[in-house]
Amino acid sequence: MPELPEVEMARRTLEPLTGATIVSVASEDRRVFASSLDAVGRVIRRVGRRGKWLRLELDEGFVFSHLGMTGGFQLTTAKAPALPFERVRLDVVRRGKTTSVRYTDSRRFGRFIVSATDIEAWSELGPDPLLDGIDQERVLAFMKKRKRAVKEVLLDQALLAGVGNILAIEALWGAAIDPRTPSRSMNERDVHVIARELRAVIRRTLRYREAGRHAGHGKEPFRVYGHAKEPCPRCGTPLKHIVLGGRGTTYCPGCQKRHTPDSPRK
Ligand SMILES: [Zn+2]
Repeated sequence: MPELPEVEMARRTLEPLTGATIVSVASEDRRVFASSLDAVGRVIRRVGRRGKWLRLELDEGFVFSHLGMTGGFQLTTAKAPALPFERVRLDVVRRGKTTSVRYTDSRRFGRFIVSATDIEAWSELGPDPLLDGIDQERVLAFMKKRKRAVKEVLLDQALLAGVGNILAIEALWGAAIDPRTPSRSMNERDVHVIARELRAVIRRTLRYREAGRHAGHGKEPFRVYGHAKEPCPRCGTPLKHIVLGGRGTTYCPGCQKRHTPDSPRK
C-alpha cells in the first residue's frame, strides 16, 4: 500500500510533465475519476505532493490523485493500448512530443480528481515530513491530547501527512516504543526518537524504491513490517502480529517497551 515514499516516487515519475499542455483526459471510471473542470488546453505548472496526495498545479485548476491501495502511474506513448486496470488516461504535449499518462488501479480505492480549486482532503493534510520536516513540539502537543494508542495517532494525516501503517510500524520499532502505548503518555524524548526513526525509514525506503527503479535492488528497508514470527533484528525475540485500531501491526514484545530505555515513565 503506497505511503509517503511510494507516492514521492510517483511524483518523480510525473515530474517530467512540468510545462506540458493537456490535450485529453479520458476515464469511464466514476469511482476513481471525478472532474469539475475541463483541463484540456491547460498547462502543468508544477508536480507536487503532500503526504499521500499528488497535486498537479495547472495554469488554471488542479489535478489531484491518491493511489489508494493499488494505484500507480505509467508514462507511455499515445499509440500504446490501454494497460491492465487502466482507469484514467491523460495525454499531454511538450515540445511537440505527446506523452500518455496512464493511471492504473486494480482495486480502485484510488482517486483522480480534476478540480478548479483545492479539495478538502488536500487542505486538511498536516505537515509533510519530507517537505516540511517534523516539528517535534507540535507533534508532542498533538499526541498529549489523544488517548488512543500512539501508533493509531501516528496514522492521523493531520499530524504528519504521508505516515501510513508501514512507516508507523517501522518507526516505533526503531524507537523501541510499544505501539499500544497511549499517545498522551509520550514525552519529549519519545517524540524526538520517533521523529528520528521516521526520517530514517523514509530515507531508507526512498533509496530502496530508487534502486528498484534503476534495475538494481537495494537492501530491503523494512526491519519488522512483513517479518512477523521472525526473530527481532535487535533482541532476537519472535516478532508478534496484532490488530490495533483495525490495522495489522507487527512489533517486538521483547524490546518495544512502553517507555524508551533512557526515559522511564512513571
Ligand atoms: Zn526486539
